[in-house]
Amino acid sequence: MKETENKGRAFTTLSELLERASALQTALTLFEWDNETLAPREASSLTARTQGALSAAYQEIMTGEEVGNCLKACEEENLSEKEQAIVREAKKERDELCAIPPQEYRAYQELIARSALVWAEAKKKQDFDAFAPILKQVIDCQKRFASYRAKKGQKLYDVMLDDYEKGFDMEKLDEFFSLLKRELVPFLHNIQKSGIEIEDAFLTGDYPEDKQREAAILLAGYVGFDFSKGVLAVSEHPFTTNLHNRDVRITTNFKERVDSSLFSVIHESGHAIYELGIADDLTQTLVGQGASMGMHESQSRFFENILGRRESFWVPVYEKLQEIFPCELGKIALPQFVRAVNKVSAGLIRTEADELTYGLHVLVRYELEKELIEQDLPVEKLPALWADKYEEYLGIRPQNVSEGVLQDIHWAQGSFGYFPSYALGSAFGAQILFAMEKEMDIDRLLAEGRICEIREYLREHIHRYGKLKSARVLLKEITGEDFNPGYYVSYLKEKYGKIYGIQS
Ligand code: ZN
Repeated sequence: MKETENKGRAFTTLSELLERASALQTALTLFEWDNETLAPREASSLTARTQGALSAAYQEIMTGEEVGNCLKACEEENLSEKEQAIVREAKKERDELCAIPPQEYRAYQELIARSALVWAEAKKKQDFDAFAPILKQVIDCQKRFASYRAKKGQKLYDVMLDDYEKGFDMEKLDEFFSLLKRELVPFLHNIQKSGIEIEDAFLTGDYPEDKQREAAILLAGYVGFDFSKGVLAVSEHPFTTNLHNRDVRITTNFKERVDSSLFSVIHESGHAIYELGIADDLTQTLVGQGASMGMHESQSRFFENILGRRESFWVPVYEKLQEIFPCELGKIALPQFVRAVNKVSAGLIRTEADELTYGLHVLVRYELEKELIEQDLPVEKLPALWADKYEEYLGIRPQNVSEGVLQDIHWAQGSFGYFPSYALGSAFGAQILFAMEKEMDIDRLLAEGRICEIREYLREHIHRYGKLKSARVLLKEITGEDFNPGYYVSYLKEKYGKIYGIQS
């Protein structure tokens, strides 16, 4: 289409408005990054005012009449696939912002800010009772907001789930999680009964921070994080921030257990590689981010677990790691290192969970969220139910609420429906792996230092599309079938069956 024909199109006007909104959003994202990494401690209250003003300006554009009129007029226009996707995302964002009356939304923002503080204090003091009343208020608000947005007959928890992973409602997730429960819980118990103890004491030791930093840079670069389009910083909890496909930032932190920081940097690099791979004509538009939360986790976990915990992954790079830590790893042979980083140990903390038990941590949260939202479970009952479920599925029981129900910040922030996407990501990754293995010999590519060919496959089939296609559509196109969690279970049982000598 010629320039002159573009003029006067509603979509062109819409694009200009969205570009302004996107610029404000980018500034907000940069502030979030800065607050977590470099900003001085005293800055927060004044910076928050700037953020508030930017956020209000963003909402004004998105909920304004101009965007509304353009979106309506776009319905009459002949739009390309990309334009249709942008209109779809703009409508979704606008509907979400318009659904909640501004006054209620402001009150909710204040509630959430308070609730995060109360949660942190309660966690420190191991005191669930101090957190329960405000958690109840957060849940009530979340349910009310979901009811504003629910389509006729739609369940409230389904509205929440839809925010994070389109097309995965309770019906679909019940199927998924009941499979995990049926297959993985007894499998884990067999591993626990096997009595096999994998030696991993050498992963905790004298791993100085500057050396861990060196290792982080080595591994991020090795998997394909492009330092000319990204930076690595240190923060309390590792995360990835993306401004556009020329600026994606990751953080890490350094732990006593070296594998925790090694694999966390590979994980965040996986998120970053996704964002860096988004096509140039999509970046800085509403479809210029990863397809969904779950698809994003599938990519970070693909690099971290499916690739990163294989022996072949380390063949080209393990010697370099040994050179960084000569005293700790110099005498540890590669197979011994790989065995140690694949040790299964059912723990209480989700963020420290191994690949096999991770899904069970999410299962506990899914079952409880469902009861909280759909069956009005009284919050007072959470600590005991949480502990019972951990005992049943993982075979261990938290001794206090800080290592139990208070460990995650998500509920304090009002994020209900978020957890399942973590487990879905692992399952998407396994399904994608089975399809890739039909086309390429992953172990050979890795051992020969050709990880770029694997990355290129993922870019070609997933990353470049951004939000143009949903996670389910991407899965179908790559694997030829709809989401099938059977692959995830097979992958885990085959891998860990071999490590622990257990028939699956
Ligand atoms: Zn992640």
